[in-house]
Amino acid sequence: MITYQNWLTPELSFDSNSETKGALEVLEWAYSTYGDEILYSCSFGVEGIVLIDLISKVNPYAHIVFLDTGLHFQETYDVIDQIKEKYPNLTIILKKPQLTLEEQQEEYGKELWKSNPNLCCHLRKIEPLKESLDHVSAWISGLRREQSPTRKNVQYINKDDKFHKVKVCPLIHWTWKDIWRYVHKNQLPYNVLHDKGYPSIGCQPCTQPAFNEQDLRSGRWAGQEKLECGLHVSTRGTSS
Ligand code: SF4
Repeated sequence: MITYQNWLTPELSFDSNSETKGALEVLEWAYSTYGDEILYSCSFGVEGIVLIDLISKVNPYAHIVFLDTGLHFQETYDVIDQIKEKYPNLTIILKKPQLTLEEQQEEYGKELWKSNPNLCCHLRKIEPLKESLDHVSAWISGLRREQSPTRKNVQYINKDDKFHKVKVCPLIHWTWKDIWRYVHKNQLPYNVLHDKGYPSIGCQPCTQPAFNEQDLRSGRWAGQEKLECGLHVSTRGTSS
């Protein structure tokens, strides 16, 4: 089994010309390799919905974690409820940070997402994901190469130096159109904010409507230098 600790560039190849551009094949490999030792971290954006549907075909009992910062839009919680209803066998965990918002304010001051967004993401996203990944060898992420310049080199299977795990990214070759085609064809529920100009949806204070085809994440931390929450840095991969 490929793990972070014994990482050797895996000699695997997946057919990026298949119907799902390699995604189902990658998921079949991932669940047969890691069994219960793999977790999908889902933000419940539209890519996440596609990935959940594909995962449910490979492992209807898969474990999924949502990093519940306490600052998400109500529409995001609504779509989580719809997904729970549609896929009752999946285990969906809403992982909360150690500090409540009140405790965070007491310790670091009001609106930390404005004064120090990196620290805020560290406390409310990175540490909770780290805890969630404690007992697994690999995790799944819905990153797509087209999504933003910061993601153009992501591979199907990545050595994740941030969390010291293997990171599996089945959707790397999917385009924005592929995602929506799949959602509509399969009549999947999705976050209604996508129809209101939000291509990428994170925490409410740090997400604005925006549409830039070259950078679908341009509405995240708009006006700040920050581009990523820090979950997806330092990855090296293979099997493109
Ligand atoms: Fe805090 Fe914004 Fe990061 Fe959410 S996205 S954890 S509100 S800085």
